Amino acid sequence: MARKFFVGGNWKCNGTVEEVKKIVTVLNEAEVPPEEVVDVVVSPPFVFLSLVKSLLRSDFQVAAQNCWVRKGGAFTGEVSAEMLVNLGIPWVILGHSERRLLLGETNEASFPYVSLNFGNITIGRILDWNNVVLAYEPVWAIGTGKVATPTQAREVHTALRKLLHDNVSPEVAASTRIIYGGSVNGANCKELAAQPDVDGFLVGGASLKFLQQMDQSSEE
Ligand code: PEP
Repeated sequence: MARKFFVGGNWKCNGTVEEVKKIVTVLNEAEVPPEEVVDVVVSPPFVFLSLVKSLLRSDFQVAAQNCWVRKGGAFTGEVSAEMLVNLGIPWVILGHSERRLLLGETNEASFPYVSLNFGNITIGRILDWNNVVLAYEPVWAIGTGKVATPTQAREVHTALRKLLHDNVSPEVAASTRIIYGGSVNGANCKELAAQPDVDGFLVGGASLKFLQQMDQSSEE
């Protein structure tokens, strides 16, 4: 089954209004394959979601970097999934390892319907697998400049697909996109993308790199 390629940009906790506008300008001018071929999704911090959505070209989508696990209410500082839906934000990154390592987030704190932990295999109740993209991100590769080899990525993605096949269904295994994240950049993405079970990327640092380059050149 052909799976649509997926490229997500995780901006993490970065940016000012001016910088966000600059990034969106660059993205709006980028030449990318049509939306029938690739999903391009950018994930700015919560405070910039509406701004990015209002300025971004219509063939690109926007994701939040986290959301609250229950309905809204007396949960100071949290943002619920309903609020994201209300804003027209169709995607959210859940259970990122930075939240687990730095903030002590656990499987229970991630959205209850999306709980799949490869080391300690738990597959939660997912309402509709068509809405799920799985990201394999070795913690040693995130933000370190150390990228998994294409063989390493392929082996893990194939194992994850088998996990879905054996525990969910062959159909879900065949259709679910499994993307790689961890120091992906323009130089290493081609070889990784050529691996049969790699359906795209979650890109952190490199999705903001051109911003740093612009800053440097404006200082020169
Ligand atoms: C990430 O934040 O999910 C990520 C993969 O970051 P980086 O590309 O910087 O390693």
